[in-house]
Formats: sequence, C-alpha cells, structure tokens
Amino acid sequence: MAQIVLNGVDKVYSGGVKAVDNLTLEIKDGEFMVLVGPSGCGKSTALRMIAGLEDITAGELVIGDRVVNDLPPKNRDIAMVFQNYALYPHMTVEENLAFGLKLRKVPKAEVKERVAKAADMLGLEPYLKRKPAALSGGQRQRVAMGRAIVREPQAFLMDEPLSNLDAKLRVQMRASLNQLHEELHTTTVYVTHDQVEAMTLGDRVAVLREGILQQVDTPKELFDNP
Ligand code: ADP
Ligand code: ADP
Repeated sequence: MAQIVLNGVDKVYSGGVKAVDNLTLEIKDGEFMVLVGPSGCGKSTALRMIAGLEDITAGELVIGDRVVNDLPPKNRDIAMVFQNYALYPHMTVEENLAFGLKLRKVPKAEVKERVAKAADMLGLEPYLKRKPAALSGGQRQRVAMGRAIVREPQAFLMDEPLSNLDAKLRVQMRASLNQLHEELHTTTVYVTHDQVEAMTLGDRVAVLREGILQQVDTPKELFDNP
C-alpha cells in the first residue's frame, strides 16, 4: 500500500489539448479515491499518468515515497483494471489469474495460494477451468479484478470497470468492491462518470471539470454541499 500524490500536474497532448490542468491531489495510504466528472474532463488521462501510460507534461507524481515521473509502468507496482477486461481468450480463468505472477517469477506454490485466495474473495472457484468466452460480463470483470488482486500491488487503478455491466450487476459489483476494499485496504484510484458509483465507493471523491479539480470531499460532504 502506498500514498499517491499529484503536485501541480499538467497534461498537454501533442495536438495542444490541455487534458489535465495543475492537478494537486493527495491520495492517502489505503484510501479509495474516486475521480468523477463528465466525459472528456481528464479522468482517464489522470489515471493513465499515475499508471505511467502517459507522460506528465509538468508537475510531480509521487507513489509511496518516491517521485515516479520517469519510472516505467512495470516498475510502479500498481495494477490496473479496465472496462473491457483485457483477458486472454485462449487461457482459462485460473491461467488468466496466474499469468502475471508467472511472468514475475513468483514461486509455483505461492501462485497457487494467491490464485485460490483471489478466486475465493471474488466467488470465482466454480469457473476456474472455463475460458472467458464461457463467462458472463460480470464474471469476466471479476476475473479482471482477480488478476489485479493476485499481484498484491501498492495500488489499484480502475478505469470505469463497471460501465459495460447491466444495472443489476453494477449494484452487485459495487458491493463486492466495497467488501474487497474493506479486506485489502489497498490504495485505489477509481475513475467513473457515474455519480452514484462515486458516492457509494469513494472514501473521498475528486470532481473534475475540463481538466480542473473542482472539489475533493467525502461522499457525505459532497452530498451536503453539492
Ligand atoms: P475522460 O476520461 O474524463 O473522459 P480523457 O482524459 O479521456 O477524459 O480526455 C480529456 C481530454 O483530452 C479530452 O478533451 C480528450 O479529447 C483529450 N484526449 C484524450 N486522449 C487524447 C490523446 N491521446 N490525444 C489527444 N487528446 C486526447
Ligand atoms: P450476462 O449477459 O449477464 O453477462 P450471459 O448471458 O453471457 O451473461 O451468461 C449467463 C450465464 O451463462 C453465466 O452464468 C455464464 O457463465 C453462462 N454462460 C455464458 N456463455 C456460456 C458458455 N458458452 N458456456 C457455458 N456457460 C456459459
């Protein structure tokens, strides 16, 4: 687990669009921070900069106790979950969960243990031998989350992970995410355009508009002073 600090961070894309404008935000160790705002407000860009998938134009990004502006994604010890799952279609659920650990040369017995634990937390045991094509959308998203969990990273970064699910599944998955966070306390940055999601998931919610941070508050404070 680690704090994530953005200090006066800008992102200007090559076409000249300023997607993120002087963003200063301190995400505490173990905190669940939601970035919310309308499409195009710079949420994904902010998340991708934390992940190291986009360069930072100006400012400073700290993960844990080091400045990571120039650190490649694979050295940031964070795990990302996307809305389109990004599962390997030719691998079973079990193999999908284990893949990242094998790549990192985690010993076999530990891979088995971590995969079993994540499968248990996410209710995936019955599906371990299935391939992604034989899973529902909700089950696929659980596998995608499982792949992040088994890594035991310093932080989770999630980009609209529930937006491809129907309303009923979204409610279920919000409950699962809350429960996972209670158990793991992993620092999480979660991007959504859905205000209900933001209010039910976040320890705090950061509201962005046109690349500018408008407000950072707990859901209760936001509800009382919208
Ligand atoms: P959000 O995630 O809130 O929808 P984004 O971070 O995707 O917003 O986009 C913020 C702004 O940056 C938008 O104006 C978008 O068009 C622009 N943008 C996003 N990605 C790129 C890119 N690769 N090149 C140029 N402009 C981009
Ligand atoms: P949703 O649309 O709710 O995401 P689906 O309609 O795709 O889910 O699937 C409903 C149920 O059927 C799920 O429990 C899923 O595991 C199962 N299922 C879907 N496709 C297959 C398949 N090809 N083989 C076996 N089970 C499947």
